[in-house]
Amino acid sequence: MRPLETKVLTYDFQNYSSLGKEKTLNEIESAFSVWQNVCNLKFERVFDGIQAMNIAFLTDDEKQNAEINCPYKLNNKKSGTLAYGFYPGDSTMSGDLHFDNERWSDQKTVSGDGKFNLFSVAVHEIGHCIGLFHNTEDKDSIMRPNLSAWIQC
Ligand SMILES: [Zn+2]
Repeated sequence: MRPLETKVLTYDFQNYSSLGKEKTLNEIESAFSVWQNVCNLKFERVFDGIQAMNIAFLTDDEKQNAEINCPYKLNNKKSGTLAYGFYPGDSTMSGDLHFDNERWSDQKTVSGDGKFNLFSVAVHEIGHCIGLFHNTEDKDSIMRPNLSAWIQC
């Protein structure tokens, strides 16, 4: 059997989360690694402005006009959508990855400060960007439609 050809998906950042550039890069690149380790995709950062995936951290106002396909939502005092990954396709936003701009932590422990683990939410949303839908059957799947406790830090 012939080995699967590795496909390269390019990405770049429009901006960074409130964690700062270095921590944001660490969290997102770790999330890409999760998928690279289990499928024939390779994610490469490019700096020429021509990328498949635009990663952006947006304010509530900036998010209002966006098409949302992931119900990862906040039900706490700051209502709104936490993040969403656009499915592959032909629109200008296909494959893009958008996050709220300020609700992130790089910790995996619950601290009750209303922040969320950026790495794990990014793994979920990248799943949408590469074409995966929600998995409602397996409660341990990263593609389950609801946030698990440890993701909310
Ligand atoms: Zn989702």
